[in-house]
Amino acid sequence: MQDHSVEGVKAVISRDALQELIGFLAADNYRVLGPTVRDGAIVYDEIAHVGDLPTGWTDRQDAGRYQLDRREDNALFGFAVGPHSWKQFLHPPIETLWTARQDDDGITFTAARSETRRFAFIGVRACELHAIAIQDRIFLDGPYRDVAYGMRRQDAFIVAVNCGEAGGTCFCASMGTGPKADAGFDLALTELIDAARHEFLVEAGSEAGRNLLDRIPHRSATDADLLAAEAVTARTRNAMGRKLDTDGLKELLQANLTHPRWDEVAERCLTCGNCTSVCPTCFCTTVEDHSDLMGTSAERIRKWDSCFTMDFSFIHGGSVRKTGGSRYRQWITHKLASWIDQFGTSGCVGCGRCITWCPVGIDITAEAAAIRATPKATREEPHEGA
Ligand code: SF4
Ligand code: SF4
Repeated sequence: MQDHSVEGVKAVISRDALQELIGFLAADNYRVLGPTVRDGAIVYDEIAHVGDLPTGWTDRQDAGRYQLDRREDNALFGFAVGPHSWKQFLHPPIETLWTARQDDDGITFTAARSETRRFAFIGVRACELHAIAIQDRIFLDGPYRDVAYGMRRQDAFIVAVNCGEAGGTCFCASMGTGPKADAGFDLALTELIDAARHEFLVEAGSEAGRNLLDRIPHRSATDADLLAAEAVTARTRNAMGRKLDTDGLKELLQANLTHPRWDEVAERCLTCGNCTSVCPTCFCTTVEDHSDLMGTSAERIRKWDSCFTMDFSFIHGGSVRKTGGSRYRQWITHKLASWIDQFGTSGCVGCGRCITWCPVGIDITAEAAAIRATPKATREEPHEGA
């Protein structure tokens, strides 16, 4: 018999009920987004059916390596994170700020239209919830509130998924950000799959989540269900591919700005900026103005930028950070050290994307460990731009 009086509660739903959940969100005019397989990777896109999820797929990840593989079961969330993050929806790669048109009556400026449909994110991992919380602090809590981000964010409905599969480059356990979602979701799922069943433990994290759970078929969770769900995240925690020793890391990095390791990593780093693009917390942007050849229309856009480009630190006379070493050092010391001074939290949630998607396999955990292994080493002559 179904229990329809859900309160703060953990319940169990079937795969079919998950389909109903997606259907209700779509009917409520949410733009439902979730993981799906495309071009050999698991990416985030619009989904309408449970079958759009990466059924039976997993991913194999290592430094500079990513590959999809078949699972032995039909798990819907049996993989880690891919190249996409939810950042692309809340803080889009390119955003028009305004447009202008000139005609016989003069120049008319028009503010950009923003997305009207609310987002529903299906399958948000614990590290990604922390990344969203970090971007909330950056865009909403500072003195310069980003109104467009706030509009996209405020009505988003988040269905988290506790990780059942640790990625080879994941280290959320050492960052205290996973693998179990602790806050910031409307509903959180744990996939319970074995030879006997395929169900989901659901935890409501908000009133909206409880209301939606109440609309779909469910049963109350038993102690056995709760234990099974705990075992899923415990197994994932123990299988984490990497770890980062954060003890005193901020002070360590800030005390080693002339360490020779920056030159060593510069010999490999292509300054491509992949790491900043895939990172769910990197938020830097640049602003460009474009006009048509007739001079009758113009637009101002904001687009993602990266501290790995020469232009990023260009001020009068040239770039402040001319070398790859100085740019890599800027990135990692901001992420793991000065971010804490700036925002009161690390800028890294341990998702591992920057390691997987670095074309030469540079590993933030290995670079931090290398500095820790030989602290206070200094190169003899700081290079240009250092
Ligand atoms: S660390 Fe890797 S991903 Fe980042 S800029 Fe260098 S080569 Fe590109
Ligand atoms: S720095 Fe790397 S591991 Fe940390 S949040 Fe960004 S992409 Fe993930």
